[in-house]
Amino acid sequence: MQSIHSTMVLSMESLTGKTALVTGGSRGIGRATARSLATRGCAIAINYLHSAEDASSLLQEVRDIGSRACMVQADVSHPDEVTHMVNAVSQELGPVDILVNNAGINPTKPFLELDLSDWNQTIQTNLTSAFLVSQAVLPSMRQRQWGRLIFLSSIAAQTGGVIGPHYAASKAGMLGLMHSYANLLAKEGITSNAIAPALIETEMVRQNKTIRPDMLPVGRFGHAEEVAQAVVFLASNSYTTGQTINLNGGWYMS
Ligand code: NDP
Repeated sequence: MQSIHSTMVLSMESLTGKTALVTGGSRGIGRATARSLATRGCAIAINYLHSAEDASSLLQEVRDIGSRACMVQADVSHPDEVTHMVNAVSQELGPVDILVNNAGINPTKPFLELDLSDWNQTIQTNLTSAFLVSQAVLPSMRQRQWGRLIFLSSIAAQTGGVIGPHYAASKAGMLGLMHSYANLLAKEGITSNAIAPALIETEMVRQNKTIRPDMLPVGRFGHAEEVAQAVVFLASNSYTTGQTINLNGGWYMS
């Protein structure tokens, strides 16, 4: 009994003093995640692209919680901007311990009208970005033998989803990326996991009029804070790696 208890204490680690970088932290799921990690004592780096005002109000919220914070504008699909962002965060808050690869887009069109430029934009923003930012933070995680990679995939990776093939492929690619890092880094104190949400009530869902809450078995949209809870769990648990947490109101069961 004693040894089970000790193991539990060891595997649920404190996040106090860790530095978390949330890509696309200005709005939606990223914003809720940044707030939740701040309440657990993390210093928070908020990445944004266009929503400077939202990022700035979040910066204030995080500081009000009592955590250190910075905001960095960067298009995470561009290698140079990623390098600049990771350097800026390291200088301001210290090396990144927890990376939440959250930034994403879901351009919608009838699927046969999707062209190469839609495909490239979606793959670069949703998938290439996660590769670029992970590669940029991993050397220092490996030096310190501690790290958390968390990927915001989607139910679209599992069922095809409602957006289209470009989006589903980008989100399925994130799972492959996550599995590879989990395998490669399991012995180095670095975990790699994904969250596959469905219909979380953010701008991304509100702007798509074909999506309704009655599509889900639970009959309601999810809340960004519910996804943030899963991020906090993955960040604080060292025995979970290579996994996907399905947060989807029962739409896809595994
Ligand atoms: P939102 O549209 O509400 O927010 C998207 C965020 O991504 C914004 O902060 C935006 O920044 C940022 N972003 C977009 N492109 C870039 C870029 N090139 N560089 C940096 N930041 C960028 O999305 P959600 O919060 O709903 O979704 C977050 C993640 O969760 C996405 O990856 C999405 O695919 C995934 N997801 C969401 C689901 C949902 O139902 N909402 C379901 C399944 C998965 P800015 O505004 O500053 O430009």
